[in-house]
Amino acid sequence: MTAQIIDGNALAKQIRAEAAGRTAALKARGVQPHLAIVLVGEDPASQVYVKHKVADSEQTGLKATLERHPVDMTEDALLARIRALNADASVHGILVQLPLPRHMDSHKVIETISPAKDVDGFHVASAGALMVGQPGFWPCTPYGCMKMLESIGYDLRGKHAVVIGRSNIVGKPMAMMLLAKDATVTVCHSRTPDLAAFTRQADVVVAAVGKRNVLTAGMVKPGAVVIDVGMNRNDEGKLCGDVDFDGVKEVAGWITPVPGGVGPMTRAMLLANTIDAAERTGRG
Ligand code: NAP
Repeated sequence: MTAQIIDGNALAKQIRAEAAGRTAALKARGVQPHLAIVLVGEDPASQVYVKHKVADSEQTGLKATLERHPVDMTEDALLARIRALNADASVHGILVQLPLPRHMDSHKVIETISPAKDVDGFHVASAGALMVGQPGFWPCTPYGCMKMLESIGYDLRGKHAVVIGRSNIVGKPMAMMLLAKDATVTVCHSRTPDLAAFTRQADVVVAAVGKRNVLTAGMVKPGAVVIDVGMNRNDEGKLCGDVDFDGVKEVAGWITPVPGGVGPMTRAMLLANTIDAAERTGRG
């Protein structure tokens, strides 16, 4: 079997087009969706990420404001900036680019963002809302993975999904989203003995580890859906995922590539969350 590819670029394009339509409708009602991005320091990867987030927003008709602060900004000053953005009715979404400089407590910073503007979905209130099935903001990466499953019309009810990785921003919320769709979910991690024994039973595998070749062909049930969240570099320095794509595509039914898979979906879901925030307040 050669797996069908779930094309993250094409799907993200569709989501951006929908987002542009929703933005136009909001603007017609006098609401300009506005994302405030806060960058502290000069981490090179963060600089690239925020540049993309601004460009994606502007291409979709959203307003994006990028605040750059020096690496020696105090935590108190950052918290004060976040409180000011919370109070600014023209701002619908607030994103603090991580990682923050080491002298700052990321948890404290994220918890200062108003849950109503937490478009990254990292606030404890957002995690709690996801846990109990209440409206809130879903973290963009697992949200994008769910959209990929939806795009192939995959019915998760009763299916066995294995999530490899248990981070607060990918693995855990991914597991909650799959549970909410009535999948039977197993979460594996670095202490899981015999990972393959779990993945071989899975109808869906989501790999969110950050190590190449964590999932190889012999670990996959024929016909399974394989979603690769990982972002790694191969020996030639090219972007690759956690999945041995060439091997696994011969066994799986569906597979997401890297690049062109989960990455563009993550970016698209940030726009969707920001527009949700603007629609919920209906002003600004
Ligand atoms: P993380 O916080 O480092 O978590 C990695 C997880 O993998 C941990 O739960 C760890 O287990 C588990 N793990 C490590 N080695 C393992 C092994 N050999 N077998 C099974 N599990 C193992 O990483 P993250 O932030 O969730 O990100 C995961 C990957 O996704 C990274 O490559 C990251 O760059 C990528 N990512 C991509 C996007 C995107 O938009 N495409 C967005 C976010 C993240 P323990 O908990 O036991 O340590």
